[in-house]
Amino acid sequence: MSRIIGIDLGTTNSLAAVWQDGESKLIPNAFGEYLTPSVVSIGEDGTVYVGKTAKERLASYPDRTASVFKRFMGTSRKYTLGEKSYRPEELSAFVLKKLKEDAERYLEEPVEEAIISVPAYFNDMARNATKRAGMIAGLKVERIINEPSAAALACQNLNQEEDAMLLVFDFGGGTLDVSLVECFDNIIEIKAVSGDNQLGGQDFDDMIAGHFAKSLNLNYAEMKPETKAIIRKSAELCKRELTEKTAANMVVNCQEINNEIKITRKDVVKLCAPLFERIGKPVSRVFVDAQIASDQVGQVVLVGGSCKMPVVQQYLSYLLKREDIVTKEPDYMIALGCGVCAGIKERDKDIKDLLLTDICPFSLGVDVINEQDIYKPLMSFIIERNSPLPVSKENMYVNALDKQSRIRLKIYQGEAMYATENLFLGEISFDIPMMAAGQVQCFVRFTYDINGVLEVEAKIPLTKEEKKLVIVNKDLDMTQEEIEEKLKEFEKVKRPFADERNTYILEWGQRLFMQCSQEEMRNEILRRIQYFQHTISFDEYHLPKARKYLTVYFAYIEGLLNSYVGFADDALKDGAWYQEEDEEEREMETLFREWEEEKEDSGDNDER
Ligand code: ADP
Ligand code: MG
Repeated sequence: MSRIIGIDLGTTNSLAAVWQDGESKLIPNAFGEYLTPSVVSIGEDGTVYVGKTAKERLASYPDRTASVFKRFMGTSRKYTLGEKSYRPEELSAFVLKKLKEDAERYLEEPVEEAIISVPAYFNDMARNATKRAGMIAGLKVERIINEPSAAALACQNLNQEEDAMLLVFDFGGGTLDVSLVECFDNIIEIKAVSGDNQLGGQDFDDMIAGHFAKSLNLNYAEMKPETKAIIRKSAELCKRELTEKTAANMVVNCQEINNEIKITRKDVVKLCAPLFERIGKPVSRVFVDAQIASDQVGQVVLVGGSCKMPVVQQYLSYLLKREDIVTKEPDYMIALGCGVCAGIKERDKDIKDLLLTDICPFSLGVDVINEQDIYKPLMSFIIERNSPLPVSKENMYVNALDKQSRIRLKIYQGEAMYATENLFLGEISFDIPMMAAGQVQCFVRFTYDINGVLEVEAKIPLTKEEKKLVIVNKDLDMTQEEIEEKLKEFEKVKRPFADERNTYILEWGQRLFMQCSQEEMRNEILRRIQYFQHTISFDEYHLPKARKYLTVYFAYIEGLLNSYVGFADDALKDGAWYQEEDEEEREMETLFREWEEEKEDSGDNDER
């Protein structure tokens, strides 16, 4: 029998685990290490280097070496390494193959199947690209697991603690994932996820590298890729040193540059102010989405290499007003959880009744007519973001026009109010009898399962016709390109002559619509946007009043969305994250406080 392994296919590092003797165990690579850098390099003779060796070649052969390709999974981006070009999933496949070989050597048996984790908000494109990567590497991938689910599984398994609400904060090299997870009676349920897929440890490296160049009056943007890679590498080293000490020297030694500067933790706090600010956003958003107050969280679990940074830990405990944040092997949590999941899939008797409930990280729905603007159909959500999986929901639609002869259901994924701004997944259409508007009913059922397969069933009771569409995305690339093109076209036809004040209100409303995930609130916002669009078109006289009204209303919604957790102001006053350590820490605290005040001030001005 061949084994199933669990794989944390990370942006920066990847690792594998297996269920063995009743526990999840990490699999060492050829170096006897658990972490394999997700870096691929192609030699002049066609040799493929993966992992540590390839990482070494980043600086020496930048044009033959690729890293951070996970960020572009599911997109049409290509990497040219030497003579050939590769897609992100092909590069990922090299990494997976390496992990598979290491596992086979370690386990002394064939490995043919894997469970791979992905960030919770990977869309279907990225998830399917990940599956394809597995296939190219010779691994059957039936299940993709969300990284926060995996972390929770590892936690649950390690602690045997039940009835707990966990906040999983996963800060890796290229992505930040924040999730609320509830564990009770062997059920692990993800309540909400949020994140920033363009924020990670590498952004800190870039900031430090930029600072180095700036303080020595070097033009970073115009440097050779080799030199940049070297500077970035020493920036990362310096950052890691700052995890141990409060000050470190950043040294760069290469042909062009022989220099060093001193950097302190406080410098990092100052330099990376915009990054810290971005860290706070998804944290408050998960609380709003799950409608949970921050003090209901029993445990905060830190995952990912960037969580080792003391400044990150401090900022988080400041935001959440708590000091009991768990930092137990942040590098291994996800892989260990994937190992547990592999055990579940192998139906190991020790864990057979541990149940995994995932959530749908995005909304799914169909387009419906927009009476204000027929060229911009609206999104009608059938499955709301953060619904527990598997989920099955049905909506009823009717023909919008008299004597309409067809009903076309276009299926989209995403949070935008206008359907075409979301990701198009597929289409079902029916010929219908020509009748008065509202007379022909169409029932649409969406079923979304834990493996990310969307099943759409639609029926017209009147004609007894039924159609079914299973969306696993075979021809992804085409679809993606088509959509990107459509979006571009769409952007070009923006309406001229628009009064900027009106556009601002419409944009504001749409952003709030996207930000909030409660159906009722969403509908309220939509109604007001439509009312406002109607006023713009037909009722100029009342426009100033409508603008005023909406400004007040949106500010109110904004307040609801942001104040639900309310940590920013309170933490400010009681200074909960204040830890009497040394001079350095105190100065950092003052800095954080200053930002918060600045942020508040500017926020106030925005709304008036
Ligand atoms: P990913 O999930 O993206 O593969 P990891 O969880 O492996 O990422 O985290 C990698 C990131 O963590 C890198 O940006 C790395 O610089 C950072 N990192 C790892 N160890 C440390 C440390 N001791 N101090 C600070 N940052 C660290
Ligand atoms: Mg990770």
